[in-house]
Amino acid sequence: MALTGSLPAVLPSLGLLDPHRRRDPFTLGVASGDPLPDGVVLWTRLAPDPLEPDGGMDRRSYPVEWEVATDEHFGRVVRRGQATARPELAHTVHVDVRGLAPWRDYHYRFRSGGYVSPVGRTRTAPLPGQLVPELRLAVASCQASWDGWYTAHRDLASRRHDVVLFLGDYIYEFGLDLGVRPEDGDPRNVEPAVSLDDYRRRYAAYKLDRDLQAAHLSAPWIVVPDDHEVTDNWAGDTAPTRGYGASAASRRMPFLLRRAHAFRAYWEHMPLRLAQQPHGADAQLYRRLRYGRLAELSMLDTRQYRDPQVGTDPARLEPVTADEVAADPQRTMMGAAQEAWLLDGLARSDARWNVLGHQTAMSLLDRDPGPGEVVSADGWDGYAGCRDRILGGIAERGVRNVVGLAGDVHRTIVSDLARDAADPDAPSVATEFVGTSISSAGDGVDLDDLGRSYLADNPHMRFGSYQRGYLSCRVTPQLWQTELRVCDRVTVPDGSVTTRATFVVENGSPRVLV
Ligand code: FE
Ligand code: CA
Repeated sequence: MALTGSLPAVLPSLGLLDPHRRRDPFTLGVASGDPLPDGVVLWTRLAPDPLEPDGGMDRRSYPVEWEVATDEHFGRVVRRGQATARPELAHTVHVDVRGLAPWRDYHYRFRSGGYVSPVGRTRTAPLPGQLVPELRLAVASCQASWDGWYTAHRDLASRRHDVVLFLGDYIYEFGLDLGVRPEDGDPRNVEPAVSLDDYRRRYAAYKLDRDLQAAHLSAPWIVVPDDHEVTDNWAGDTAPTRGYGASAASRRMPFLLRRAHAFRAYWEHMPLRLAQQPHGADAQLYRRLRYGRLAELSMLDTRQYRDPQVGTDPARLEPVTADEVAADPQRTMMGAAQEAWLLDGLARSDARWNVLGHQTAMSLLDRDPGPGEVVSADGWDGYAGCRDRILGGIAERGVRNVVGLAGDVHRTIVSDLARDAADPDAPSVATEFVGTSISSAGDGVDLDDLGRSYLADNPHMRFGSYQRGYLSCRVTPQLWQTELRVCDRVTVPDGSVTTRATFVVENGSPRVLV
């Protein structure tokens, strides 16, 4: 009688039935993101069986304890609390920790069902008025798991970065029945992701990678999605009905419903704040983060508000001529509200470096040797009017030290950005570092035919490389330095990583020194 009346005595034995008390629920690691001067988002997910629906959890909510300490052994815990992992959010946990000190390292971990998570290292941002002597920032994108191992992430994790920008294609939604990894033959990977369960399973499959987990453990991340977090070449409210990301199931589902599933799974699996949580098919993903007076990061969303691409067949997206694009200069890649938000913010900024963190190259990438321009319909070249409003707005407002960071094209492209990019004498108003892919497109080579063609026909382009890797940047008040780290191979798990080149931009001069 005494025992049945004693709730605390009963709960632990009931707990033995909980799925995450039988197996380690922290199979997908931990992450942190979107640092502020006083806080950071901590992330994890309870998933003892991560590739199964619901991650091997049942339909109940579970408490998850979290701790933040100034040392990795948790001798000095400065914040702790309890979050709830709910089944409707795939038992993911997003803790918006506040009350931390500016510009310092912290360590964090979670605890649930008797298990303790791996320990992550994170770092807060400086105070708004603070001009810190140095910011170390990594730039990565495009990690198609079937194309290669995440050797670049292992290297990224081995270096000290204050923050990692991940600029899209964290997952690929389409399906393949072959690839470099042992699990790539799994028939469940062959169909494109369409439902919420499909997208959740895709994130779980990607996040099982130990090198990706190590990169999250090493530093806070700031993430924005590109197309493959939803589907290949989607644009605003539309997506191709044929091609890589399309299937019978995708054609049966209204695109905005698919986008809602994709956005929800993205938010669930990324270290993002509540402000970025989607409402149906809409999510506020463009946002600004600052590193005191050294750097302000404007993170852009060039997918959700864009007009459809020029051309008749979005599933194929054949290159188009610059004249076809120029026919309607009002077309937008960002939407009017985001364009105004970006230019207003840049005009007000008192930061030394004004960073645009976005998806695809803003530099002209003419792929047709000789007179005339043939360009991708999906990149900024396909929205030249919008690009001109941004670069023109930067010039008219006298915004200094604008550095664009992007991904998408699976190659490194370093350029000065001029309003008239086809004119070799046009003045540069900004610089741009387009980072290559972590793994997408396989091993690659230092310079391929398309890279050579780009270099020959685009006078403001300074450098190109077609190997996999990432960018490791060192930012000081006087100098922006970008180091390109490349992998010799990614189709085997033990490739090596070396520095291919280092580029410099000096304070006050919008030109890349190669
Ligand atoms: Fe990609
Ligand atoms: Ca040309």
